[in-house]
Amino acid sequence: MKKTRYIVIAGGVISGVGKGSATASIAKILQQYGYRATAIKIDPYINYDAGTLRPTEHGEVWVTDDGGEIDQDLGNYERFLGMSISRGNNITTGQIYKEVIDRERKGEYLGQTVQPIPHITDEIKRRIREAAEGFDFALVEIGGVIGDYENIPFLFAVKSLEREIGEENVIYVLITYLPIPSHIEEMKTKPTQQAIRLLSESGIFPDFILCRAREPLDEVRKKKIETYANIDADCVISAPDIDILYSIPLNFEKEGMGRKILSKFGLKPRKTPDWSNWEELVRRIKNPTRELKIAMVCKYIEIGDYRLSDSYISINQSLEHAGAHLGVRARIDWLDAKVFEKDRSELERLREYDGIIVPGGFGESGVEGKIEAIRFARESNVPYLGLCYGMQLAVIEFARNVCGMKGAHSTEIDPDTKYPVIDLQPTQKLLIEEEGYGGTMRLGAYAATLKKGSLVMELYARTGRLEEDRKRIERLKADPKQSFRLGILSMEERTILERHRHRYEVSPRFVDILEENGLFFSGYHLRADGTRLMEFIELPGHRFFVATQAHPEFKSMLEKPAPLFLGFLEAAMEK
Ligand code: GLN
Repeated sequence: MKKTRYIVIAGGVISGVGKGSATASIAKILQQYGYRATAIKIDPYINYDAGTLRPTEHGEVWVTDDGGEIDQDLGNYERFLGMSISRGNNITTGQIYKEVIDRERKGEYLGQTVQPIPHITDEIKRRIREAAEGFDFALVEIGGVIGDYENIPFLFAVKSLEREIGEENVIYVLITYLPIPSHIEEMKTKPTQQAIRLLSESGIFPDFILCRAREPLDEVRKKKIETYANIDADCVISAPDIDILYSIPLNFEKEGMGRKILSKFGLKPRKTPDWSNWEELVRRIKNPTRELKIAMVCKYIEIGDYRLSDSYISINQSLEHAGAHLGVRARIDWLDAKVFEKDRSELERLREYDGIIVPGGFGESGVEGKIEAIRFARESNVPYLGLCYGMQLAVIEFARNVCGMKGAHSTEIDPDTKYPVIDLQPTQKLLIEEEGYGGTMRLGAYAATLKKGSLVMELYARTGRLEEDRKRIERLKADPKQSFRLGILSMEERTILERHRHRYEVSPRFVDILEENGLFFSGYHLRADGTRLMEFIELPGHRFFVATQAHPEFKSMLEKPAPLFLGFLEAAMEK
């Protein structure tokens, strides 16, 4: 068995200072030095997973290939590391307690008093080790802030893991925040000193301190922290505010972070890092040749711009990745779909955009406005990209306005519609009756066969995804627990994998009539029971009108942009 070394990342002072991106960046750096690195996110909340959290409060729900509904930090890990990360890499207090209590009920602890220590902490360790297996490095990001009541068991567990595997195999990184209060304009180290002290209560002394602040740390403050934490000034790393996420690993490397970490473990680089491609992409994000205006028509608008972008973080990222490859910047305007319901002349505003996106969503709020925006895109030849709900609503729009099915709808919104073009599938209905709402979605990666001659097919082939997904399909075939995701595979190697998170589907009953009227279903998933689930639509003759039942934004990476986003921006450039 491969020996894994652990890097534990904890946050001091306040949350929201980029612990997730720092974790992802450190993992990326180690990868660049030739090591296999993974990252694990610990969320100390009681929720079993992020599936039921409100996106406006907690940011987007990230979906993994194996169907986990996870904290969005896992998305950053994947985007940086360029690999698929399992749901097991997200550990919550809820999962730990549920597992331990289930075991207790089964009688597995017969006679024992079941306690936080050792039973809860043992289960934490077991999960960390399981997720880390096979990797040279596992980064363990502890959510929340040091001093939070709920992350104490996790700190205890990593400390205990350290004792088991030897202290030479674990290092600790404290990410802290140094405020510069506006009335004195001076950077303050006191909160950091307190965080260091709090961490020491768990027996943990940081090997590195990453100092997040508006500005770089000066020598005086570096020295102060060095003395207080009793570590080398070399290990106090300055992490000033940046505007481009992907420049974080480059900045860390300027401080020699990779080599410093390796030397703490007594290791040498296995290869010389090659950042040239990454640097070039970052440079293009910084200096785009052109700006494109993209309208995102959505519902979570009431909460102001700040958190809004967090609710759709993967879409923003996907546009950034595709834009970096094309040398353009996609500027997103968030438009409240409801505005189009109140006043149809507002639709004219859409004319100034180079492209329109309707993202995923649930429920009826803003639905008619989104449908109007889609109609506008279709009729005015404006590039349109529909994601999940954005595809369902495009099908509804087409049914109503092209096929003449008045009142066509999704049964999610109108259970009594005469034309339920979007509907629950029988197996799904059964699940909802049996289990209520939780755990009834089509979640995770599913295979889709692409039709020859389609735009979608061309994009997946051109970007190399067809080839890449073929390899992933081989791996999935070998996994009996996950192979159901493939359904019945086409023999012609035109199969791709995208992630899903939805309950409703295009009703197979209406596919023929929609196609007769000109909507092209360019990809489908063929379930083992023979049902065809529609995965992609496109409109031949339109500049770009493509939508998918999947969430391709979960597979976009800086170095490998998602095919549909690339095609969408290319079309937007031509408009
Ligand atoms: N509400 C739709 C469904 O459940 C779409 C979900 C989504 O966009 N993620 O099928």
